[in-house]
Amino acid sequence: MEDYDRFDIYSVALDPEYCPQCGSEVGSREFDAGPMDWCGDCELVFSRGPIAAVHVVVRDDDHVLLLDELIPQHDGVLSLPGGHAHHDEGPREAVLRELEEETALAATPDALSLVTVYHAETDAVAFHFATYALEYADTTGTLSPEADGFEIRREPVDDVVGGAVPIRDSDRERVAAAFDREHPL
Ligand SMILES: [Zn+2]
Repeated sequence: MEDYDRFDIYSVALDPEYCPQCGSEVGSREFDAGPMDWCGDCELVFSRGPIAAVHVVVRDDDHVLLLDELIPQHDGVLSLPGGHAHHDEGPREAVLRELEEETALAATPDALSLVTVYHAETDAVAFHFATYALEYADTTGTLSPEADGFEIRREPVDDVVGGAVPIRDSDRERVAAAFDREHPL
């Protein structure tokens, strides 16, 4: 038996059937830590890593910027700017890219403050959700929605946290945390 850490570890979000590097069928090899997915041709250990997902709460005094986007996953609810990090991005880069795509606002990474990080998983895949706060005054550019029919709303934080604004509970928690408010639910 041996430790697997002398081999390269290939992080995957979903368990692969074939090696992404050489295309061989992925096998299994016994290590001290137990059986690990393994490519013998590449001498690679596979390890499932979480996908980084990011959100940003843009604070404008006692208001928060929310998106009203006509897409199925946001049907009937407003949402925070955010999305998934690309494989070559850190979370701050990713959240600033998403903010710019969705609102046309730009900011520098040091203007972001980390609010929360949560781990969540299903049987197939795991996520790290990082939420940042950003002052509207620290942004540049002119607010502009990503597509026709989309809107960017500036909602009072009390209405958002208190439940008067339709928003997913997970986003309501993010807004409450970014404004240091108790979440009533
Ligand atoms: Zn391989």
